[in-house]
Amino acid sequence: MKAPVRVAVTGAAGQIGYALLFRIAAGDMLGPDQPVILHLLEITPALPALNGVVMELNDCAFPTLHGVVATDDVNVAFKDVDFALLVGARPRGPGMERKDLLEANGAIFAPQGKAINDHAKRDVRVLVVGNPANTNALIAQQNAPDLDPRRFTAMVRLDHNRAISQLAEKTGALNTDIAKVTIWGNHSSTQYPDIHQTTVKGKPALSLVDQTWYENDFIPVVQQRGAAIIKARGASSAASAASAAIDHMRNWALGTAAGDWVSMGIPSDGSYGIEPGVIYGYPVTVSNGSYEIVQGLEINAFSRARMDATDRELREERAAVEHLFAK
Ligand code: NDP
Repeated sequence: MKAPVRVAVTGAAGQIGYALLFRIAAGDMLGPDQPVILHLLEITPALPALNGVVMELNDCAFPTLHGVVATDDVNVAFKDVDFALLVGARPRGPGMERKDLLEANGAIFAPQGKAINDHAKRDVRVLVVGNPANTNALIAQQNAPDLDPRRFTAMVRLDHNRAISQLAEKTGALNTDIAKVTIWGNHSSTQYPDIHQTTVKGKPALSLVDQTWYENDFIPVVQQRGAAIIKARGASSAASAASAAIDHMRNWALGTAAGDWVSMGIPSDGSYGIEPGVIYGYPVTVSNGSYEIVQGLEINAFSRARMDATDRELREERAAVEHLFAK
């Protein structure tokens, strides 16, 4: 067994938290030979519920769970952590404008960014799941001036996984037959699920499905899958979001498969003409714990328009929260 690593999870008593913690503790994220110490953050009123979750975690007697810290103090939550999954966020209430939502989340993610800056390991890996995830990640990053900005990422992996599953179903293939799917941009309805480079058992996906299905079925189904699940289940997706968070962190820590890539929301370096600095979904490969944007993909006019639209939305979101950035 390796030395344990510390993994912070915020919103730990929430729905996604409940689906996430047991899998991290069981070794699904970092492997069966990597013990973890969980650092669980909640708001004060949720601490009793969190205590129940901690009892259940203990009752599982996981071989890879070497300790649990449960707290409502950000400074304790992020102390010496190697990984931070920021799940807790302010949900959109009835009649709430996007601007109000961004503002409410600024109050959560600015102090968390500062606490990560002050207390986490210098090579901490941060994944923001709480919505609006890309811009929440930017707020946290901009309040952590001592850390490499590339340590802050946002989750577009659920959209990526949904795209794989839709395409596998349509073509009668297995999920593992699908490679090179990309989710460009924001984890919002402007996201662009792109299958121009995707292969199914090595064959170009767009030679197996027609353009009408791609434009009128596939793209909207992936974009609106979250709403469809709320309608069907009466609650938002939680287990699939947790599973995607595990996939994101596992690939970032342990690498991506040869001949394939994954989608991660990462700080744009201007690649593919995207505004530098915004947290944008890109195709990436990971080796030795470091992600790189897949370069040189051909972008046609159809893709360009969609990639620019989601970039525009992210620039607007950034403009709405710039006042929350540390000077
Ligand atoms: P969930 O656990 O269901 O969701 C948490 C966040 O994840 C939401 O912002 C949600 O966005 C987002 N999310 C991202 N992808 C998905 C997806 N595919 N499906 C569903 N959600 C997704 O929320 P709960 O209300 O059950 O739990 C939140 C917990 O966070 C509460 O226990 C609360 O006390 C806590 N919290 C903790 C904070 C802290 O630790 N400082 C701060 C704020 C809250 P969306 O709203 O768009 O569904």
